[in-house]
This record gives sequence, structure tokens and C-alpha cells, in this order.
Amino acid sequence: MIIVMKHRASAADIDAVVKQVETSGYKAHLSQGTERTIIGVVGDDRPVQSHNLEMLSGVEQVVRILQPFKLASRDFHPEDTVISVRGVPVGGPRLTIIAGPCSVESRSQLLETALAVKEAGADMLRGGAYKPRTSPYAFQGMGEEGLELLAEAREATGLPIVTEVMAPETVSVIGKYADIYQIGARNMQNFPLLTAVGKTRIPVFLKRSMMGTVQELLMAAEYILAGGNRQVMVCERGIRTFETATRNTLDINAIPLLKKWTHLPVFADPSHATGKWDLIAPTAKACIAAGADGLIIEVHPHPAEAMSDGAQSLKPERFAQLVRELRVLAPAVGRMM
Ligand code: PEP
Ligand code: MN
Repeated sequence: MIIVMKHRASAADIDAVVKQVETSGYKAHLSQGTERTIIGVVGDDRPVQSHNLEMLSGVEQVVRILQPFKLASRDFHPEDTVISVRGVPVGGPRLTIIAGPCSVESRSQLLETALAVKEAGADMLRGGAYKPRTSPYAFQGMGEEGLELLAEAREATGLPIVTEVMAPETVSVIGKYADIYQIGARNMQNFPLLTAVGKTRIPVFLKRSMMGTVQELLMAAEYILAGGNRQVMVCERGIRTFETATRNTLDINAIPLLKKWTHLPVFADPSHATGKWDLIAPTAKACIAAGADGLIIEVHPHPAEAMSDGAQSLKPERFAQLVRELRVLAPAVGRMM
């Protein structure tokens, strides 16, 4: 439920409503917009006595929210959330481009990629040190040594780093290095992990599961938000369908739908959505045209030698070409780069 306050509601009116909500056993979440204040009411699913609230001074309207996600919902927070990551604004009119290798493989591989993507215009560096591999025999990532290399690459380029966390036990070690925790598709509904990152104040990049609905993605975001961490980005990365010619099927619908349902920044990952490097540029542009706030793209200096996801990795010069094309597209869809 949300309580929409009148345009001229006083601070005392707002306080009185918050007190009333809390004495009824619910939590009140304030969203102070430029126009008016909205008070979100969350708690268990028992119906709230809305008529009592409607009578309080300064209250314009009490509205029930039908969606099961609350803090993630645009009804709760009508304005776009903008997250500042080391001074890089994420979620506003400016597009955010995250690029880098699937996995951190070595110092030279990471630094070469980091410098190249920075030069091309990327805003942040990605790279997995703990990798969720389908096979237990495949390369599992460099672990903490990989995190140290990411920190070195950040030092060298100034790019904030995005890296995956797979287990609640590694939230604290990864938190010593990461600017953004990535939660991968396979862990979208790892509820202990969502709860653990929800207790931190490090931004979270939450990817949609290959078989998760858009609503389930936002319910997963809700776990993190409910824990007190309000800095969540969501990412469409392709879903599993009957089509086998591509690694996944990019659900382009999800992008405008997410923008409608949530205030959180919405990203797209054309690399994992297609699995093919030559499909990345056209689908990346489609995602931006559809309203995505940013992209995450895999780049490797020698894709043929990559230890993971080489087939979907762009060479640095191809990534640079894509950024140039996106700079032409962005203003046509009302965005900046
Ligand atoms: C990745 O970003 O390298 C990754 C494993 O992505 P996803 O979780 O979307 O499969
Ligand atoms: Mn990958």
C-alpha cells in the first residue's frame, strides 16, 4: 500500500502518518519526490486499515499496490533511482556501459582489456573471479587473486569494478574489492545470498535467471531492498526458449516492462543473451532503443583463447566501434553517453 501525501503536506503531517503506520506494526518507507511525498507501507500481508490513514491530515490518497513487489515498484518510488558508483551516475539520462572479460584470467589479460575498454569509452569494468560454471571441470575463476587484479585494474584506469558473488560466505571478501556485486542468473533466487548482499551498502547488479519471470526478478530485487540496501540494478540477459540457434533468447519486452514496473536502473546483457559476438552490436542497439539504462558487454583481447565465453566476447576494436555507434544512437532516444 502507498500513502500519497498532499502537495503541501507539512513535515508534522508526514511524521504523524509514519507513526500511525509503525504503531500498526508496519514499516514506512519515505520517497520524497520533487512534487510530493509518498509513504510506502510494507509488512506482512494482513490488510491495513486504510480508512484510518485516509483521515489523517495531509493525506491525499491511500492506494493498494497489486504487485507483490513493493520497494522495487514504481508506485512506491515514481522517479528513476540514480545510483552513484564512485561518481558514475547509474540510472539517470546518461547511459552506463560496463565492459570487460567474462573471467579474470591473468594480470596481462585483465589490464590489457581494462585499458582498451576505458579508451573506448566504457564507464565500468566487469570481470568474474568466482565463476558459476555449468561443468565442475571447467575453469572456476581465480578467486581472491582475481579480485586483487581487478583492484589493480581499477587503480590503473579509474573504472569502478563489477564482479560476481555466488555464495553468502564470499560476500565479505568480495566486498573488500568490488564497487558493485554482480548476482548471476543462476543465483537470482539464491535467497540467502540476496539477504546477505541486502545487509551491505554495496550496489548490486542483479541478473534475471534464464527461467525467471520479470515479476520473479523484481521479487528477488525486493529481497535486497527489504534488507536495507537500496542500490539495486536489474539486468535482462536472455531467457531459455525453444530456440537453440542462439545461447538464449533476448527478451526485449522485458526492458520496457521493467522500466514501467520499477524505478531501479535497467540493464541488458547482449553477450549472454545471444552467445555470439556478431549478434552483440545489433541487439545492444535494440536494447538501448527499448529503454535500457545501460549495457554489460564481454570483451576479450584474444577471444579464441578465452577461458570462458570466448564465442560471445568482442575484440576491443569491435567494442570501440559499438560505442561509437551507440553515441550516435543515444541522442535519438533521448539519452546521453
Ligand atoms: C557472466 O556475467 O559472466 C555470467 C555468468 O552471466 P549470467 O549469470 O547472466 O549467466
Ligand atoms: Mn560470461
